[in-house]
Amino acid sequence: MSVLADDRLKDADFEVRGQALVNGTFQVGPIHTRAMFVHKGGKILMISYWCEVCSIRTYTPGKCMCCQDETALDLKEKFDE
Ligand SMILES: [Zn+2]
Repeated sequence: MSVLADDRLKDADFEVRGQALVNGTFQVGPIHTRAMFVHKGGKILMISYWCEVCSIRTYTPGKCMCCQDETALDLKEKFDE
């Protein structure tokens, strides 16, 4: 759970998938690796990390698996993959 230790997210409201949802309208998709969300500005955002150099997305903070550069925190409502 290294995401929870990320300083950049320390003020955010976390949601770990599997918890009961408040409004009951959120639909959980068939997503296995994206279990972490953050509530921000009334939106539910998925937590991911992005390396601009390599265009590689990961779901845990740390260095890029390719260029070893620090990845940037990237919160999105959904991913265009
Ligand atoms: Zn990289």
